[in-house]
Amino acid sequence: MMKENTQCGYVALVGRPNVGKSTLLNHLLRQKLAITSRKPQTTRHVMLGVDTEGSKQAIYVDTPGIHDHADREMNRIMVRSATAVLTDVDLIVMVLEKDQWTEEDELVLEHIRRSGTPALVVINKVDLLKPKELLLPVIERLDGYGLFQAIIPVSALKGSGLDMLREEVFSRLPDQPHMFPADQVTDQTEKFIVAEIIREKLMRRMGDEIPHRTTVVIEQFKEQDGTADIAADIYVERAGQKRIIIGKGGEKLKMIGQEARQDIEALLEVPVMLRLWVKVRPGWTNSPAALRRMGYD
Ligand code: GDP
Ligand code: MG
Repeated sequence: MMKENTQCGYVALVGRPNVGKSTLLNHLLRQKLAITSRKPQTTRHVMLGVDTEGSKQAIYVDTPGIHDHADREMNRIMVRSATAVLTDVDLIVMVLEKDQWTEEDELVLEHIRRSGTPALVVINKVDLLKPKELLLPVIERLDGYGLFQAIIPVSALKGSGLDMLREEVFSRLPDQPHMFPADQVTDQTEKFIVAEIIREKLMRRMGDEIPHRTTVVIEQFKEQDGTADIAADIYVERAGQKRIIIGKGGEKLKMIGQEARQDIEALLEVPVMLRLWVKVRPGWTNSPAALRRMGYD
């Protein structure tokens, strides 16, 4: 009997913040996995998403943004993990945004070049590009770098071009056994995803009023008798930020909690009791020890 040939590989999604990496990953995996928001830099953690079809398995790594100005400790950690990922993976998918090209994109390109890893480039948000002819000079310029094995226009939001992307990715995976069962889509624990859901609601509600480095820590996570009892702490740096998040008579925090609870119930498929606390911890984003305690290492 012939042994079936299987392909499997790690694929890094890279690109400056807000180009749509998380949205792309969500749609590739057809479910809410990485958390998206209008605010840049929502993704702090390297996040795995597994896309299996037949004999092929792509393991996606959603990297934090690569930034030029690594002035704070948090940014330094993010940059380090993002660049280390590039040399580890089998394939890089660089994501950029329609006809926009910034210095940050240039920096990402430089990291890809230095890694020596095979790369594809995705031009995302083409639904916003009118007329479509505007794509041609973008493709021509990307082609000119001589770095990308394929250039794929997509709309992560509308789902267009994703079949082509999957095909291009699948065709470049090395021959080796699958690392995850076919029905597994992530290696992240439910607890982590719950914290990210709460953080997403917080970001969406607060806009620019609070910094994106706000952290959510799950203090209690108990599933019992068909319900989940969850308590989470939201850490901010200043008392003023705490007041803003809580809102008049607790209104804002209540709304954030309700929205998060709905998503968590959909994820866990049980009724959820969710309690949120806002705590002030000055200066923690600049302290390596505090970051390690919160799981950023
Ligand atoms: P990331 O920082 O690269 O992970 O970007 P996100 O996935 O969080 O997306 C940033 C913003 O761009 C969100 O508001 C998305 O809804 C939006 N977005 C992502 N993909 C598309 C797209 O194909 N078309 C449009 N119009 N918006 C998109
Ligand atoms: Mg993201």
